Amino acid sequence: EAEEEINFFFPKQQTLAVIKPDAMEDHKEEILGEICSRGFTITQLKELVLSRDLAEDFYSQHRDKPFYNQLVDFMCRGPCMLLVLTKENAVEEWRSMMGPTDPAQAQETAPGSLRARFATDILHNALHGSTSQHHAQEKIQFLFGDITSDLNSDGVFDSTLPED
Ligand code: GDP
Repeated sequence: EAEEEINFFFPKQQTLAVIKPDAMEDHKEEILGEICSRGFTITQLKELVLSRDLAEDFYSQHRDKPFYNQLVDFMCRGPCMLLVLTKENAVEEWRSMMGPTDPAQAQETAPGSLRARFATDILHNALHGSTSQHHAQEKIQFLFGDITSDLNSDGVFDSTLPED
């Protein structure tokens, strides 16, 4: 009941975070540590090498940009970690933890941000984060499927095995 009350005043939100290939080798543990110490719950997690098709679809809104091919090449050059982060105000808070898209700007305006610390340049910028709740839900659905279909009516994962 106490939890219900807390959720009424501070509704939980979900956002999609991606640790991009450039940050996976050297900064993954530190990034995950910061996510947890800021009070996010990691509700889903998947590490994989994106196929070209998936990377193209994921960034389809940038299809007409001059950097689109570079971006797709970069996103599938090695493993990514996809994370669903849950917390009140998760979308805005994760964007602010990441800092601006361009690390040069991040170093000026948000020197403690993750991109200021871990990004190399405007393309190889370590992280992705949804810009709105709508985009977050769309991308979570796209990358993880509809997890609610695996929940029973009490919102609990149903682990019973189908009878054969
Ligand atoms: P984000 O929401 O902060 O990730 O920024 P955008 O949605 O505008 O861009 C998506 C991704 O494309 C960025 O995270 C960068 O990896 C890359 N990108 C954005 N702008 C540029 C640019 O001007 N040049 C290049 N080469 N890459 C860019």
